[in-house]
Amino acid sequence: MRYAKKSLGQNFLIDKNIIDKIINLTNIENRDIVEIGPGKGALTEEILKKKPKSLTLIEKDINLVKDLKIKFSEDKKIKIFNKDILDFDLEGLVKDKAIIFGNLPFNISSQILVKIIKFKNWEPKFKDLIFMFQKELGEKILGKYKTKNYSRISILTSYRLQSRKEFLVSENCFFPKPKVTSIVIHFKPKKNKFFNIKNISTLEKVTNILFSNKRKMINKNIKKILSKNEISKIPQISLQARPSELKPEIYYKIAELIEVR
Ligand code: SAM
Repeated sequence: MRYAKKSLGQNFLIDKNIIDKIINLTNIENRDIVEIGPGKGALTEEILKKKPKSLTLIEKDINLVKDLKIKFSEDKKIKIFNKDILDFDLEGLVKDKAIIFGNLPFNISSQILVKIIKFKNWEPKFKDLIFMFQKELGEKILGKYKTKNYSRISILTSYRLQSRKEFLVSENCFFPKPKVTSIVIHFKPKKNKFFNIKNISTLEKVTNILFSNKRKMINKNIKKILSKNEISKIPQISLQARPSELKPEIYYKIAELIEVR
């Protein structure tokens, strides 16, 4: 038996009910599926039972990859990559109407989400993104304007994805047990009709700078990125506001202004 590696966020799902609930969130039959971090294949096995067109696995741990190759050696639909998802050309691999699943390694889960939000072509080819996060991060991702969870990551996410909270998952559904509860979120890509940010890194930079001090008014920080003239082009902006008091649309507008220089 292999020991779980903490450094790779290895908490394996052992609760069949939860596995079924995740798999049943969308229709898998005849769709191309990608799974990030399949681990020992708990989700993988159930995905296969639903008859996907293809199933691509990306797993960093070579030992788990060896086991997965043995476990699924008979199945022609499966392709396994022993890669780090953060260095992997996921956008190039995803096919039309694909579904991406992942019970994500908690230490890099926001980086994985941001990597997808930064795909160059939008709308992207995938149609569903079903991810499990630690609850605290998940709530930040879902955080709406004027709530305490409104944050940099919710502003980035809501620019490109519709997000739906599905359900919470108790620590007891994993082995080894993580310290905190998890949350499953179902995302679908959306086209933003009112804004046209070409490079999501610009929006990321804007949110990083303005949120660098959450309690301070934005007046000093905004002047680091925009001229007076540019600031005057933003309707309804108050320089006395704190970063959490600015609507997502103001962040989008700032990113656009930077890009048209
Ligand atoms: N999907 C399995 C399950 O639900 O039981 C395992 C989930 S576990 C939370 C996260 C998995 O992601 C582990 O198998 C881990 O080895 C893998 N992983 C960690 N970092 C990774 C990375 N950078 N790229 C790809 N896989 C990674």
